[in-house]
Amino acid sequence: MTRPLPRFPAGFEWGVGASAYQTEGALDADGRGRSTWDVFCEQPGRIADGSTPATSAGFYDRYPEDIALVHDLGADVYRFSIAWPRILPAGSGEINAKGLDFYDRVVDEMLAAGLKPAPTLYHWDTPLPIEEAGGWMNRDTALRFGEYAAVVAERLADRAAYWIPLNEPVVLSLLGYAIGGYAPGQELLFESLPTVHHQLLAHGLSVQAIRAAGGRSVGTANPHAPTWPASDSPEDLAAAAFSADLTDWIWGDPILLGRYPEGYAEGMPGPVADDLEVISTPLDFYGVNYYSPQRVAAPTGEPSLIQEHEIPAEMPFRAVEVDGPKTGLGGEISPDGLREILLTLTERYGESLPPLIVTENGTSQQPGTEEPGPDGRIHDDGRIDYLDTHVRAVRQAIEEGAEVRGYWVWSPTDNFEWTHGFTQRFGLVHVDYDTLVRTPKDSYSWYQQLIGAQRDQL
Ligand code: BGC
Repeated sequence: MTRPLPRFPAGFEWGVGASAYQTEGALDADGRGRSTWDVFCEQPGRIADGSTPATSAGFYDRYPEDIALVHDLGADVYRFSIAWPRILPAGSGEINAKGLDFYDRVVDEMLAAGLKPAPTLYHWDTPLPIEEAGGWMNRDTALRFGEYAAVVAERLADRAAYWIPLNEPVVLSLLGYAIGGYAPGQELLFESLPTVHHQLLAHGLSVQAIRAAGGRSVGTANPHAPTWPASDSPEDLAAAAFSADLTDWIWGDPILLGRYPEGYAEGMPGPVADDLEVISTPLDFYGVNYYSPQRVAAPTGEPSLIQEHEIPAEMPFRAVEVDGPKTGLGGEISPDGLREILLTLTERYGESLPPLIVTENGTSQQPGTEEPGPDGRIHDDGRIDYLDTHVRAVRQAIEEGAEVRGYWVWSPTDNFEWTHGFTQRFGLVHVDYDTLVRTPKDSYSWYQQLIGAQRDQL
């Protein structure tokens, strides 16, 4: 027996989210500059299936089709990202008009389809010249980012509905600079801490630049998840607290409270107190990306694995796994983790917390389970179950006091899943990577019904 679809408060917004590098392709089109990910993907062995992002989901040419699909879904919001190397091929200086024109067309197409455009300014695709000048280890990168934000905001502020300056800076610091699993592939461990401060400063400077250009609704998109210690032993509790500071609170506290968790400010470069003033510029919403909870234990002197990424032995915590249902990427499935983190954020930040939006939530299924069957359809029941239970968890969190204003599924179409290439499909819509033909999956119909059910109650 199917359960009745949950009903959300009036005004709650439904959306989808994607990023430039994962969907656009057309890496050489219209004057785009090279990015760190272009170089990284060219290195042998980096991408699981040896695939390339050269075409990806073909969004650069097919955006009208994808926007039409999201319109037919009945969604309110389309989150996408702007590629910094398309706007400023050298990272700063000369503006590439054709790059700006592309996103102008995308935004107009979304508006014509009745969708609210929600641009992310940075989803990890750093212009190569910026990286060559030190990347996020260099304070100048934050200043260049602020200038880039101003260029984009001057063009789109009249039409963008939501702004996300940087997506998940924690992933870039940890995977990109600390342990080297993502571009730019550096293994600096704790020496990478300046990248935290510089990305936070870039966030603050770009919030101010977007506002100065008249932009409305400026927020962020940080991954947050509860950190569950493996036991109540003091060692496991200390390891969990350390890990939560590193993945959650050094990102949330500076933005929302204007301070670092204890012990971090001293290690950061620059005029930290002045920077924190900029970093904590008040936001209109706080975006939470959620996939799986984190389980952590005291270190054993051996490396541990979090999904496929190795946490080095010298880290003061290790990741632990429990039996139970897993996402295609191997993450634990726990809808209650989403409810819990929304309430934890509500409690931790109190009056300082603007309304929350779940800016990403979704799953891939086990590789190979998402191809069209003999009936031509994709029966992605695992995704429907994941999304349905997580949507209910959001409803429950609202019931228990969290102010959540929206939920955006990652992702409208299948796309290039970073080092997993095309092996992990996150879309509500299947993409045939040979023909670029789009086929809505069963989860697309499920989401359409869920959104429709909200409208019916009005
Ligand atoms: C990222 C996306 C990615 C998704 C699924 C998020 O952390 O923002 O780019 O595709 O996770 O792994």
